[in-house]
Amino acid sequence: MPLLEVEDLRVAYGKIEAVKGISFTVEAGQVVTLIGTNGAGKTTTLRTLSGLLKPLAGKITFDGEVINDIGAHKIVAKGIAHSPEGRRIFPRLTITENLQLGAFLRKDAAGIQEDIERAYTLFPILGERRSQAAGTLSGGEQQMLAMGRALMSRPKLLMLDEPSMGLSPIMMQKIMETITELKSQGTTILLVEQNAQAALSLADHGHVMEIGTIALSGTGQELMHDESVRKAYLGED
Ligand code: ATP
Repeated sequence: MPLLEVEDLRVAYGKIEAVKGISFTVEAGQVVTLIGTNGAGKTTTLRTLSGLLKPLAGKITFDGEVINDIGAHKIVAKGIAHSPEGRRIFPRLTITENLQLGAFLRKDAAGIQEDIERAYTLFPILGERRSQAAGTLSGGEQQMLAMGRALMSRPKLLMLDEPSMGLSPIMMQKIMETITELKSQGTTILLVEQNAQAALSLADHGHVMEIGTIALSGTGQELMHDESVRKAYLGED
């Protein structure tokens, strides 16, 4: 049984249907990526999986339970963490405080402390600056903090929305290396990216979204070598 199963999911903003019946699965331990241009419905899909938007139709099953209607808090408790587009860190709070907020549902102080230290091992720069306001971090460092914060709920599924957005090539590479490292530790990841090359090179499976539908699916390698994907998303003629 897959960890996450999305069946014929439809999501609308008023009369505008942004997601028009998509289906895909994520197996435990896999990295699955949704790629596609602006407005394809990738962010809408993640926000629906997080319980921030209600589906119009379809079924979302996570860890054996239908979670269509259970609400964002309970979805975090079930084990889905979301690092949102644009990061949404709290700039006036310190780095440590931002990480603590990611553990808001947990009561095990020792475990929380352990996981904060683990985040500092994963991202040493955050550890060095742990007492500084998060707003002083660079864009890439804020992305690290957003990922670290999402991991603080000890999720079964980590959802990352455009982690490479706005980053320098070096920072982007660092973020992608971190995703690879998390994968090697067994973390299950649903990755939304506009940078198709980077996402496909580390994903087990990928889905190309186009105006609310999944136009093409395959392994990361298959999609990377698919001619239409190469033309549309990898900048080749
Ligand atoms: P991006 O990378 O720009 O976030 P995306 O693939 O994640 O693109 P979505 O943000 O999910 O796409 O948007 C899908 C469609 O839904 C777009 O046509 C967008 O204009 C529309 N949309 C998104 N948010 C809203 C909203 N709050 N109200 C109305 N329409 C919206």
